[in-house]
Amino acid sequence: MSSKILLFVLLIVMLISGCGQSQSVSIDKKSYQDKTDSAQTNTTKVFETVPKGFRVVIVGSGNPKTEVGRGAPSTLVQFKDKYFLVDSGANTTSTLLKLGLQAEKITNMLFTHQHVDHNGDFWNLFIDGWQGPTGRRSLNLIGPQVQELYDTTVNFFRTDLEYRAGLGWPKDGILTNVNINDFTEDKYNFELDGVNITSIPVPHTVPTYAYRFDAKGKSVVVSGDLTYSANFASFAKSAEILVFDGMLTSDF
Ligand SMILES: [Zn+2]
Repeated sequence: MSSKILLFVLLIVMLISGCGQSQSVSIDKKSYQDKTDSAQTNTTKVFETVPKGFRVVIVGSGNPKTEVGRGAPSTLVQFKDKYFLVDSGANTTSTLLKLGLQAEKITNMLFTHQHVDHNGDFWNLFIDGWQGPTGRRSLNLIGPQVQELYDTTVNFFRTDLEYRAGLGWPKDGILTNVNINDFTEDKYNFELDGVNITSIPVPHTVPTYAYRFDAKGKSVVVSGDLTYSANFASFAKSAEILVFDGMLTSDF
């Protein structure tokens, strides 16, 4: 969930290639329009180059209610040629494709929490990214309640998945070769694709975690939905890029 105000911050963070190149934040209409135009002009070129360090792309920043032209929460953290997708709200798969990144490239799917605005496009991403001769053949599912998300999805679509696999596609990446890291503890720290990832719980209405990505002396932090948290402040300290998910709407 996020506010209109947050959109300005998110757009500025968007398309930053490598940490340490952050731009100043300016909240005025012209600046916002310029950045929007610039982002639209450059969208197809986002993934043509491989960054030497981190790249962060705000794939969606919308509210729980569906909006035209604005996807629900999803943040892509790229480190060199590896991708870490945090949340997959509505429109994630199509937005990534518009930006030049096919779903099959996403082998690390992380979740802050299991609210529908943060996982509404998971089924599409999960199945679309696997199917076909060049589909994803391995998958890491990470975060709270991901075991339940996986089991529910596979059970519901089992006949469909078996049919598609019967067309000749390997089951790896969907029915096999899926590594599930289901969060139930207070803190996690692990390495994945050359990145040290730390995760801590943050306050929300369901189990929710924030992520910190560290590599080559740079840091990216992605929050879930949360209210004030002293733990999160110290967790995010000194990060080069912080993507903070918040909400401010008059109808709530
Ligand atoms: Zn939520």
